[in-house]
Amino acid sequence: MVKKLFPEAMARLYSRVFVCRVCSTKIRADPAKVRLGKVKCRNCKSRALRPKRKPLM
Ligand SMILES: [Zn+2]
Repeated sequence: MVKKLFPEAMARLYSRVFVCRVCSTKIRADPAKVRLGKVKCRNCKSRALRPKRKPLM
């Protein structure tokens, strides 16, 4: 496995990525839109999203 992630990889994997609380589907969306409830899970139509957590290094 990769020991150290490059900043561009971190940005791609974690910035603006949210996870559905119901079915754990990952969704890339604008955080402002998520806060306003405009983003729905494409899998289960839920609006319960949380930001994807970055692993501790
Ligand atoms: Zn879902």
